[in-house]
Amino acid sequence: MDLEKNIQLVQSKIAAAALAAGRSPEEITLCAATKVQSDDTIRSAIASGISVCGENRVQELTAHLAAGAYAGAKEVHFIGHLQTNKVKQVVGKVALIQSVDSLHLLQAIHTQAEKLGIVQDILLEVNIAGEESKSGCSPELLSQLVLETHRLPHVRLRGLMAIPPISSSPGANRRYFAEMHQLFIDITQKMSDNQGVMDCLSMGMSADYEDAIAEGATLVRVGTALFGPRPPMGPR
Ligand SMILES: *Cc1c(COP(=O)(O)O)cnc(C)c1O
Repeated sequence: MDLEKNIQLVQSKIAAAALAAGRSPEEITLCAATKVQSDDTIRSAIASGISVCGENRVQELTAHLAAGAYAGAKEVHFIGHLQTNKVKQVVGKVALIQSVDSLHLLQAIHTQAEKLGIVQDILLEVNIAGEESKSGCSPELLSQLVLETHRLPHVRLRGLMAIPPISSSPGANRRYFAEMHQLFIDITQKMSDNQGVMDCLSMGMSADYEDAIAEGATLVRVGTALFGPRPPMGPR
């Protein structure tokens, strides 16, 4: 596996997908999903041009931070399911928490950010396909969470995130990406200027990031296409 080559390939496919959609390649951020990767692999990825790393598990985030593995990256994001009792290990340690999907979690993040005297940037995660076993809030709960973010001065809503089903066939997730884009537009239009900056629509993974870009993604989270297949994940 040639990490540098993979990164270049994904970056060029991102640029091509953007141009095909009449968008500028600079509008799209590549977030490398670094779960299960070693400190050294993360360092190599950054040396080869990765500027944003997305971490899925608190334990791995903490270990990589302690080892200084993200040195040179512009930002680290948290993209995995976050338990309320672990917010202390994440708030203030990452530029963006992409996976906020409940009132309880939102408030816990706010409390910790307030304690630290910071404003934590967040995305709200939507379970756009209504899958039972998935994290993410329903589109109905989403409006409630958006309103709540306006009341909480120590969180700043930057946008939305979604993990649709594993693509069964090429193009299978386009309708979910289109639905997410519409939700993103609706929320942006309802917000006033002082209520946040909606500049991030995080959707698309190795199998479908080009479709996500065609439907308006501003950030894609890519693991396998950069690092190769992962061993199966154990329990959290
Ligand atoms: C692992 C992961 C990805 C990347 O998945 P690939 O299919 O390997 O590209 C994206 N988003 C989240 C939340 C992940 O946990």
